Amino acid sequence: MTTRELPATSPRAPRAFDVHVHLFPGMLARFIWKWFEENAWQIRHKPTPEETFDLLARYGIERMVGLCYTHQPGLAGMLNDFMAELVAAHPERLVGFGTVLPGEEGFEAEVQRALGELNLSGIKIHCHVQKIAPDDDRMLPVFDAIAETGKVLQIHCGPVSESNAHKHEIDDLCAVPRFVRAMRRTPDIKVIVPHIGYDEVQLYLDMLDEFPNLYLDTAMAFGGYRVARGEALPDVRPLALARYEKGQKPRLPELWKPALEQLVPQIMERPERFLFGTDFPNLPYDPDLEMRELERYLPEDVLRQVLWDNAARLFGPAERQGRT
Ligand SMILES: [Zn+2]
Repeated sequence: MTTRELPATSPRAPRAFDVHVHLFPGMLARFIWKWFEENAWQIRHKPTPEETFDLLARYGIERMVGLCYTHQPGLAGMLNDFMAELVAAHPERLVGFGTVLPGEEGFEAEVQRALGELNLSGIKIHCHVQKIAPDDDRMLPVFDAIAETGKVLQIHCGPVSESNAHKHEIDDLCAVPRFVRAMRRTPDIKVIVPHIGYDEVQLYLDMLDEFPNLYLDTAMAFGGYRVARGEALPDVRPLALARYEKGQKPRLPELWKPALEQLVPQIMERPERFLFGTDFPNLPYDPDLEMRELERYLPEDVLRQVLWDNAARLFGPAERQGRT
């Protein structure tokens, strides 16, 4: 495991394990950035996959989960090989996730290859980009393989999208009951839902009781999405936990756009279930923006859990990654 101490020059900066970094071969990365710049926001940093590791390290991000996905048939195998090679070259830095396009010919075998032969640490599914609901029958081999191997599923199933062209379809694919239905078949599997399930945050928070290995990543949920949309970050003090009656869980007053001060009590109640993530490099700001927000609002012990300990526990020592 990466256990080296922080450099003496930055004693306060906590090290971070970012569970949400996108790594794509150059041409695909450029295609994705073009989409963002035409539909959402300008991309601040456009590193090659190889440049990503040192660039993020400059912001205190020492380990990361690398994610890729495809909605084009025929690409999953190439992407999984690409990710496995990056893990082999950077085992100290990178935990690699594979991808499949559920339903395409041979995808079950590719799930097995990604988690077996390539020894990738999990599978990433993006419901509305790949146009598949969590409880679709084509997802069963993915959930089953994750359950059998004890690896991790990262499933983007919150309905927020930068493109409203298919809003109706997105709302259908990403309806919370469909995720719950999928989870109840294999309720113990390790799952990360990114963006705290935006924009149905409270409904995902409610599921933490039922599913013991459900984790929520903070990517763009802790102020980043607001900044990306040109809004100012609220300058607020966290609500004291005492404002909630004893024994009663803090509730968000509205589902959409929970303010930072409302997420803090939620995180403090279940600090072991939140993972720091950035969504780098698809960001219009530096990758430490939300780390600064978390530092500002979370007490030190909770901060350490969210930034490092939870992910380190989930993925284990660096030596275990990579091809077997
Ligand atoms: Zn992402």
